[in-house]
Amino acid sequence: MTLIAGNWKMYKGPAEAAAFCRELRQADLPADVDVVVCPSFTSLAEAVQALAGTEIGVFAQNCHWAAEGAFTGEVSAPMLQELGVYGTLVGHSERRQWFGETDELVARRVHACLEAGLHVIACVGETEEEREAGATHKVLRRQVASLEADDNLVIAYEPIWAIGTGRTATPEMAEEAHQSIKELIDVPMLYGGSVKPENAAELLAQPSIDGALVGGASLDVASFAAICGAAVS
Ligand code: PEP
Repeated sequence: MTLIAGNWKMYKGPAEAAAFCRELRQADLPADVDVVVCPSFTSLAEAVQALAGTEIGVFAQNCHWAAEGAFTGEVSAPMLQELGVYGTLVGHSERRQWFGETDELVARRVHACLEAGLHVIACVGETEEEREAGATHKVLRRQVASLEADDNLVIAYEPIWAIGTGRTATPEMAEEAHQSIKELIDVPMLYGGSVKPENAAELLAQPSIDGALVGGASLDVASFAAICGAAVS
């Protein structure tokens, strides 16, 4: 099974999210591809409602490790589950870069979310400087070191230099990184970083690439549906 997840980042408020999901319901999505959208917190309820009765899953973009508590600005797994949210992204590079998420915090979130019964897409990836310094594998090893395989865990390899830049890792580079991560933890792996309808099929054809985490190109129904379609072609 292939998984295509759309990370909407801080785009699409509730009305826009609902309209997108209603349109996505009508799109011609392949039956053997798991499709997930990750709206921002305020749009989750509308997305769940608009996709009710479909196989399309709704994931959050982050989730706290505690069930409740004095954690201003955070949202817990039970709160998400009460809305009908199925899973969450954790450790996206934008969280690491702008909000101080460390490997330790990411691991805490991952463990707690899995424990609570959410599906988790945990994100890892190296910076351009780390790749140029030949440290890619060391960085990836460090990032996955505190994660354990779980039936509900997927890892997304997203080289930071390829996110939102239009620069994609070559299929060979992505495959090599996926293989090295799979040696450490045997879970399905998504590639993320400027995935588009034009490059999706070639990336998804690699043996260790089990799907894609798509940012910019997931904001438009036609391009997101085309990427889902490329997963089977
Ligand atoms: C992302 O946000 O996870 C991502 C991969 O973004 P983009 O597809 O825009 O590079």
